[in-house]
Amino acid sequence: MFVTATGAPARALRPQTEEVPGFATRAIHGGLRADPATGAILTPIYQSTTYVQEAVGKDKGYTYSRAGNPTVAALEYNLGALEQALPAVCFGTGMAAITTLLLGTLRAGERVVCSDVVYGGTVRLLRQVLVDFGVRADFVDSACLEELQASLREPARLLFIETPANPTLKLTDIAAAAQFAHAAGALLVVDNTFLTPALQDAFGLGADVVVHSTTKYIEGHNATVGGALLTRVPALRERFGFVRKSVGTIQSPLEAWLTLRGLKTLELRMQRHSASALAVAEYLEAHPRVTRVSYPWLRSFPQQALARRQQRAGGGIVAFEVEGGTEAGIRVLNNVRLCALAENLGAAETLITHPASMTHASIPAEERRRAGIGDGLIRLSVGLEDSSDIIADLEQALA
Ligand code: PLP
Repeated sequence: MFVTATGAPARALRPQTEEVPGFATRAIHGGLRADPATGAILTPIYQSTTYVQEAVGKDKGYTYSRAGNPTVAALEYNLGALEQALPAVCFGTGMAAITTLLLGTLRAGERVVCSDVVYGGTVRLLRQVLVDFGVRADFVDSACLEELQASLREPARLLFIETPANPTLKLTDIAAAAQFAHAAGALLVVDNTFLTPALQDAFGLGADVVVHSTTKYIEGHNATVGGALLTRVPALRERFGFVRKSVGTIQSPLEAWLTLRGLKTLELRMQRHSASALAVAEYLEAHPRVTRVSYPWLRSFPQQALARRQQRAGGGIVAFEVEGGTEAGIRVLNNVRLCALAENLGAAETLITHPASMTHASIPAEERRRAGIGDGLIRLSVGLEDSSDIIADLEQALA
């Protein structure tokens, strides 16, 4: 696991005893080493389209940056060390990662079972793009184990879950999903964007493939868009790399460099995001104008026991609704000052979103309602500011 992008052992980390270093250590050093040419401690931005070959058929591991790039590879090794999987395959966006996954694993006539609450772009891709290529997607309440198991009685190639789900934070039991998927001969794909490997070990719980929108917590600074696929199965990793090269969905070296920098503080950031989100969720729950708060670490959260079993903390996202429904919710969104009304999550800045009109607008209203994404639902991505200032901003907006 601890080899670098250039194939050499990462000196500081070569495990003497095969013991895996701690998460924060892996985030800073895992799969990385000083630049062999200059000693630069950070992997440089290899901004180059092509690579000069020594002779026909003799290259240094890179030929053309659509197939592979050393800065992107450094990120892939680092992410692999964090998820304790093979090096990742990285993409220009999270959706490029999901597209490459689906193109690489499905054939016309095959079926995907997908959680009924996932990021709206994933639903749009399955419903409005891949359907024309003969792929069938069935959406199920994956929080209900009976429904999940029943959905896999019919053959399926993939079970795709997102937990906690965007935007309601509904959870799926990853270990149970893995058991059902494997019994049915399907691969379990977990979108781990909301918690990252700092807070949720999806492979340890049985995932075959982990998806990240690195745009969110992994990079963490609202500076890039990017995605990643990870697996422990060499043939799958090879397939993802092959399809990425074929369709041209690779990440750029600058985005990879920024993401590597962001990852160094991932564990600290996730701890702070989680502590502040809990404080904000508790404040909202006690507020007389707030009718519902969803946050996995709250005692009132219906799947609290599952959250504590499969997550290390609650994460940075809180979903809530206010008295007065949609109109009142929109007034809150329009009156915040510190929180930014913007699509994205997982960054230093606190972001506030209206899923029904923004991130999940492409899902028909009736289906949104069935999945619990009411028109008054507000999604808050709690940032790294002082939680007292975030709460003060919500207080004046709710007033
Ligand atoms: N997965 C989840 C859970 C998301 O929230 C998003 C985007 O919001 C994506 C995937 C897609 O990622 P990207 O926006 O980087 O394409």
